[in-house]
Amino acid sequence: MDGLDETLRTIAGDMGVEVFGIAAASGFDNPAYQGNRPQTIMPDVRSVIVIGVAVPRGCIEPLPNGRAEYTNTLLAGTVTLRAAAFRVAQTLEREGHKASIVPIEGSEFGYWYVDRETLKADVSIKYAAYLAGLGRYGVSNLLLIPGIGPRVRMTAVVTDAPLTSGSPSANLKADCTDCLRCVEACPADALHEDGSIERERCRDYMFNTLGGLRCGLCVKACMDAHR
Ligand code: SF4
Ligand code: SF4
Repeated sequence: MDGLDETLRTIAGDMGVEVFGIAAASGFDNPAYQGNRPQTIMPDVRSVIVIGVAVPRGCIEPLPNGRAEYTNTLLAGTVTLRAAAFRVAQTLEREGHKASIVPIEGSEFGYWYVDRETLKADVSIKYAAYLAGLGRYGVSNLLLIPGIGPRVRMTAVVTDAPLTSGSPSANLKADCTDCLRCVEACPADALHEDGSIERERCRDYMFNTLGGLRCGLCVKACMDAHR
């Protein structure tokens, strides 16, 4: 990594970030990627910096009890990541580059940030993390990170800075065929054995049935599978 990469990693780490990786923006050109490309929000984007924190186990284990605490803990992670991402963006701009911060998750605040038809965000942070070599997708559509599993909250900074990017270290999808605990645990039948997801079912469950609290049962099921 060059000096700026290390500076950004250090700044983020000092603010509580536990997961750090850089994806080349060109990686979103892969035909296998079905989401929106970062070039639509920054035409000359070169790099997507992913930062994340591990979500504490203590707020996941009691689910479905403690959903208010689970939701609040996720939002505490959001605060941590937003502050860290802002410092990263500030540093990039002071070095003469451009930077913009991708919302923590597409579904936050009632899917405010996503396309209302597709329920897809402007940039998939999970795919950026995959490109950066941080982990791979499970059947749950969650990103599974070595040592953390599915308990991760992430954001991303898009920039025109030509940083040194990581590369995927594993296949796009994890081999989950002997498990499927997340599929069985989903109360909205949103997850399927083939790895597909019906996002509108997940959205309707969280924002209609739960009134905006987060569900997290797929995270809990997968966390149990990774013990
Ligand atoms: S958060 Fe809940 S409703 Fe959404 S996919 Fe996971 S288990 Fe299903
Ligand atoms: S719960 Fe099992 S099937 Fe689902 S993503 Fe985790 S490891 Fe894969």
